[in-house]
Amino acid sequence: MNVGTEHCSVPICSTIQLDSTLPFDKSSVEQALRDQKFNDFKWLSPQDIIFGHWVRFKCMFGCESYNTKASCPPNLPPVEECRSFVYDYEKALIIHITASLDDPKTRGRWSRKINNKLLKVEREVFLQGNRKTFVLFMDECQICQECAVVRTDCKNKKLSRPSVEGLGIDVYETAHRQGYSIEVLKNYSDTMNRYAILLVE
Ligand code: SF4
Repeated sequence: MNVGTEHCSVPICSTIQLDSTLPFDKSSVEQALRDQKFNDFKWLSPQDIIFGHWVRFKCMFGCESYNTKASCPPNLPPVEECRSFVYDYEKALIIHITASLDDPKTRGRWSRKINNKLLKVEREVFLQGNRKTFVLFMDECQICQECAVVRTDCKNKKLSRPSVEGLGIDVYETAHRQGYSIEVLKNYSDTMNRYAILLVE
């Protein structure tokens, strides 16, 4: 198994006892992000996360990863169910991540590193007493160097998460409405603006 981290996230069936009487502490959540060097983020209402069926269609017709990743479509619920899942939360953060990669071969390694850091944030925020906390990766899962393809065969179910786009989220519109820039890249070496989302409750 090519696992990029020994960090273990905490599923709902965990035996860890969370103190649900703790008041929600926004600054502790923000500190968890800064601890992992995520310094550019904004709070938003989950209802301000925009979904589009066109995103799923672009995924099905145009993305070479379709049906090759165990946490991408068609291994994800329909868009409407994904929307209900996200809108069921009280709070969310959009996290802006930039990078300029000269060599396309380094993309997977870079995504793995960032997504592992996002998992550390998720775990820390969960341990702060936010039992529903869930992170949406800023790219395909990439936790393993070779994906199992099928959800039930996922090699690292504790750590795998879907991407923002995989859920059918219109990242362009969602980011724009929060004042962030995101453009279609014309050259591989252009600076990428990627976005992850942390759902908090
Ligand atoms: S954890 Fe590994 S096998 Fe599972 S979805 Fe992610 S990359 Fe694929």
